[in-house]
Amino acid sequence: ESQLNPNYSFENFLEGDSNRLARSAGLAVAAKPGGTSFNPLLIFGGVGLGKTHLVHAIGVDIKDKYPEKTVLYISAEKFTQQYIDSVKKNNRNDFIHFYQIIDVLIIDDVQFLSGKTGTQDVFFHIFNHLHQNGKQVILTSDKAPVDMQDIEQRLLSRFKWGLSAELQTPDFETRVSIVKNKLYRDGVDMPDEIIDYVAKNIKSNVRELEGAIISLIAQSSFNKKEVTIDLARIVVEKFVKNTKREVSIDYIQKVVSDYFQMDVSTLQSKTRKRHIVQARQLAMFFAKKFTKASLASIGSQIGKRDHATVLHACKTVDNLTSTDKQFKKYVDDITKKLSV
Ligand code: ADP
Ligand code: MG
Repeated sequence: ESQLNPNYSFENFLEGDSNRLARSAGLAVAAKPGGTSFNPLLIFGGVGLGKTHLVHAIGVDIKDKYPEKTVLYISAEKFTQQYIDSVKKNNRNDFIHFYQIIDVLIIDDVQFLSGKTGTQDVFFHIFNHLHQNGKQVILTSDKAPVDMQDIEQRLLSRFKWGLSAELQTPDFETRVSIVKNKLYRDGVDMPDEIIDYVAKNIKSNVRELEGAIISLIAQSSFNKKEVTIDLARIVVEKFVKNTKREVSIDYIQKVVSDYFQMDVSTLQSKTRKRHIVQARQLAMFFAKKFTKASLASIGSQIGKRDHATVLHACKTVDNLTSTDKQFKKYVDDITKKLSV
């Protein structure tokens, strides 16, 4: 059982600038598994950008071209679980042996191994064995190796041996072609105006983009509703709202400090230097704007100030925004950073 999903094919993985490198590397690996310098091939990128789809496509393609090769797809989470079970049942060696005889090993979401030293250790040995024997290893992760945390150095250095290719957020045209392909496969017609509207408004996650389209298809075929722009607007709004992440006060302080190139500890300090005071006031203002925290709670988290200080900060920011152009630019820039 390879655990591969045949629907996740290369054909259905639409190409765009955002994924060209990763997709081409995937095709190269599929043509010559273990025989390219892309070993391991590591695909990284944010949620819903196609990592799982792409690695399945590679596996499916290899199975097609080389039916005799054993290809195994497994999530890092399941791999970890299996490993833990094997230790409990005293057959750790069988576990290792099972993985060492695979021709193409695909492990999805390796960030899950963070902090799990036992599993990392066993994976290190399996990896070395496969690599030395010219077998192909394919990995996905939500981050580039340099940004991974709590993964042992020796494993990270192995990850860097081959190629790390990023999946970025697709541009508008690619989003449109993904939507059109989905509609085509489902045999559904939808006005271009609607497709454009959805693709324009759901930008950062292909899964959400598909979700919105599926919801529209369902509305039109089960509820017999005509798919109008108004309906599209409602559906898109639901998707965007449901997934809007709540920003934390820590995150706001980090973004504001980064913007003014200072440390969070400087922003929180007691100093009265004007630019630091302003940064602190901005952090308080954004905390009030973007979180549900009380003034007292905001104050205590941003340098242990009281609620009156926070209130004063919010008023000051409001005033400065309407009188000082440069200051207004700060507010706009930071707002943008906090809204992505
Ligand atoms: P990830 O593993 O990065 O979270 P997935 O591989 O699960 O993302 O992709 C989410 C959804 O988006 C899947 O249904 C996948 O088929 C689809 N998808 C992502 N990128 C593309 C693409 N380039 N072309 C077609 N579908 C895509
Ligand atoms: Mg995935």
